[in-house]
Amino acid sequence: MRAYLMSLAVAAPALLLGLSACGNTPTASTESPVASKTNAVGAAAIGAERLIASNSEPGSWLLAGGDYREQRFSQLDQINETTVSGLGLAWYADIDTERGQESTPVIVDGVMYLTTAWSMVKAYDIHSGSLLWAYDPAIDRAKGADACCDVVNRGVAAWNGKIYVGVLDGRLIALDGKTGKVVWEKQTTDTTLPYTITGVPRIVKGKVIIGNGGAEYRVRGYVTAYDAETGEQAWRWYSVPGDPALPQEQPELKDIALPTWNGEWWKLGGGGTLWDGMAYDPELDIIYVGTGNGTPWNQKYRSPGGGDNLFLSSIVALDPNTGKYIWHYQTTPGETWDYTATQPIMVADLNYPATSTSKGGKRRVVMQAPKNGFFYVLDAKTGKLISAEKFAPLTWATHVDKTTGRPVEIPEARFDKTGVAAIVAPAALGMHNWHPMAFSPETGLVYLPVHVSSSTYASPPNFEVNLKGWNTGIGFTAGQGVTPVVAGGAAPKTEAYLIAWDPIAMKEVWRVPNTDPRGGTGVMVTSGNLVFSGNHAGEFNAYDARTGKKVWSSPTQAKVVAAPATFTVDGEQQIAILVGARGLPIGQTRTVPTSANNSRILVYRLGGTATLPAEMPKATAGAPITVKIDPPLLTASNETVASGELLFGQNCAVCHGAAGVPAAGSIAPDLRYSALLHGRNLWNGAVRDGDRAQRGMPGFSTTLTAEQTDNILAYVIKRANDEKAAQEAAAKPKP
Ligand code: CA
Repeated sequence: MRAYLMSLAVAAPALLLGLSACGNTPTASTESPVASKTNAVGAAAIGAERLIASNSEPGSWLLAGGDYREQRFSQLDQINETTVSGLGLAWYADIDTERGQESTPVIVDGVMYLTTAWSMVKAYDIHSGSLLWAYDPAIDRAKGADACCDVVNRGVAAWNGKIYVGVLDGRLIALDGKTGKVVWEKQTTDTTLPYTITGVPRIVKGKVIIGNGGAEYRVRGYVTAYDAETGEQAWRWYSVPGDPALPQEQPELKDIALPTWNGEWWKLGGGGTLWDGMAYDPELDIIYVGTGNGTPWNQKYRSPGGGDNLFLSSIVALDPNTGKYIWHYQTTPGETWDYTATQPIMVADLNYPATSTSKGGKRRVVMQAPKNGFFYVLDAKTGKLISAEKFAPLTWATHVDKTTGRPVEIPEARFDKTGVAAIVAPAALGMHNWHPMAFSPETGLVYLPVHVSSSTYASPPNFEVNLKGWNTGIGFTAGQGVTPVVAGGAAPKTEAYLIAWDPIAMKEVWRVPNTDPRGGTGVMVTSGNLVFSGNHAGEFNAYDARTGKKVWSSPTQAKVVAAPATFTVDGEQQIAILVGARGLPIGQTRTVPTSANNSRILVYRLGGTATLPAEMPKATAGAPITVKIDPPLLTASNETVASGELLFGQNCAVCHGAAGVPAAGSIAPDLRYSALLHGRNLWNGAVRDGDRAQRGMPGFSTTLTAEQTDNILAYVIKRANDEKAAQEAAAKPKP
C-alpha cells in the first residue's frame, strides 16, 4: 500500500492529496443523527442554535476552539484511561506546505476542514480520509515578510453551508462548504500597510468577526464584523486611539484611552492588534477579545512620559451585535516588552467554595494566561478582577494588586525608564503564546502549555522608523562591555512544560516537562479523563487529566504545535491532530515528498493500525546534510564590529536572534552558518536588494546605508568566528 502510494506520489505529486489516506478501509457511510436530520453530509449546515448547543453534539467539533466558550473540552469518553492503550493511527494525509501548521480542524456533517500554512484550506471525508477539495488563496509569497512569526493560520469557521478563512494578506474569504468555491471575499485591511491575518474567524448571530496582526511593524489594531452572507461590514472596533487632532471612532477611545497616551504614537499605528484570542458567551451575549502589544514595543519611543496606553494588552468585552465597548481589563499597563494579551480566552462557570469571607457559589468567568505570565480570572459580566497569580517564573512584576487590579512592577525590568539594559522574564515569545489551553468542567482544571524564557531588553539611544520591517525600538543585547541588570535577581532557565492549573485555588496541580524545551504546543481535554497534547520532540501524548501521568504516546515524525480535535465516525470516537512546525524533531528525517517538516493531518481511533512511512522514497530522498561552520577571516576593525553589533540588535535580532543566535522556534536562519558571509555582493543581494523577499527576508536598502549593512556583515563574521573557535576548542582532546 505504502509503496504504491509513494511511487504514485513521485510520478504525480498533485494526485497524492486525494490518495494519501492509508490503512483504513472506507466503511459504508452511516450518517450521524444530525446529518441524517438535515440530509446534508458536507453541508456545514450550522446555525446559531447548533453552535450554542454544540455540547449536545459531541460527535462533531463545530468550532476550532471546541465551543463558543473555547474550552476545548469534549464529552466523548470511549477513548479513556483504560482503553487508550489501544489507540492507533486510523489514517493520515500529507500536507503540501512546510511552514508552521497551527490549525485545529473543524469537523461537521462528515467533513473535516482545516487550514495549513499560507492560509490554504482542505476538506477531508472523515469516513475515508480522502480529500474532498482544497482551496489555495494564492498569496503573494513576498507578503510573508509582513508575518512576524511565520505564515501560519489557526483554522476556519463554519456557518450556513459556508467555510470562512482569514488569509495572511488581510482577506476574509467565504467558501462553499461542499465545493471549496469562493462565495465572497473581502479585503479587511489597508494593503499598503503590513497587516496580516493568522487567527480564526468567529461567527456570532450571522456576523463573521476577524482581527489582524502587525504590531511588530506599524499598524493600528482593530477587529471587524462582516455579514456572513454578503461580506458587508457591520461594525469595526479599534483598540487604540487615532490621531488626537481627528475625531475618535468610538466614545471610549476619546474618554478612556486617549488620556493614557503621549507623543505621536498614531504615526506608527500604535499597535494593539487582535490577532488570536476571542470567546463568546451566548447567555450574556458578550464577545471577549484580546489585544496585542504596542508599536514600537519600547514605550519610551511609543508614548514618551509613559501612561497606561489603553487598550493595549487588554481583555475587552464587546457587544457582538454592534461592536460597542462594554468593559476592559488591562493586563500590562504601559507595556514595553511585547507582552500581548491576544492569547486564548476562555469562558467558564467556576464553583467557588464558601470561605470565612465569602459564601462562595457559581461564578461565570473569563480566563486568560497571556504572555506576561499571570493567570487571570475575571467576572464575565463586569470584568472585575477575581484573581491573578503567576503561572510561570516571571521577573517583570512581583504580583498583581487585587485592590487596584494593577501589576506591581520590578523597577529594573522597566529598561525604557531606567535606561539600563535588563534581562527580563518572559522574553517576547511569552510564558504562554497562542497555543490553545483547555478546561475540563469535570476536573475543574485548566490545562496550560507553558514556555519559560527570558531576554535582554535595552533601550537604544535613538529610534528610527523602519518602513520595511519591525519597529521595536529595542536592542536585544546590552552592547559591548555592558552587563545588563537581571530583573528579580535571577533569570529562570528556558524550559517548556504542560501544567494543570486550578483556577479557583490559583495553584499548579501537576506538571509534565516537555522532553524538548523549544516552545509550546496546543492542548485538548476529554470526558475520558484524558489530556491530549503533542510536543517538539515529535510525539503525540495522552495524560491522565487528574494526575498528569502519561498513559499513551505515538510518534508523529514532526513537531507538534497545533491543538487536537475529537469527533465520532459512525459512533466511534476518533482524534485528529495537525502536525508540522519549523524544522524537524531531533533525529527525525524527512518522510513526506511534499513537506520538508513532515506536515500531515493524523487521525487516530481505537484499534487503528495505519503506519507512517519510515523513510522517503529513494527517488526524492536527499543525502543527509551536515552543516559546518565556515566563515571568512575577520578583517574589520573593533569599531566596525561594535557599530555592527548595535545595528544588528536594532534591525536583525528580532528574527535572527540576540547576538546572532536564533531563538528557539525562530523561523529565521542562523546567519553564522550562512554562505552569504563569503561575499559582499551575496550579502547585499539578500540584505539590501531583497533577493529573498519571497522567502520572508525584506531588503533594507531604504532603511540602512551601505556602510551600516557592511558593519552588520562584519559583526556576523565576528560572531561566526567566535562560534567556530568555540567548536574547535570543544573538539580538542582534553589534556
Ligand atoms: Ca507582538
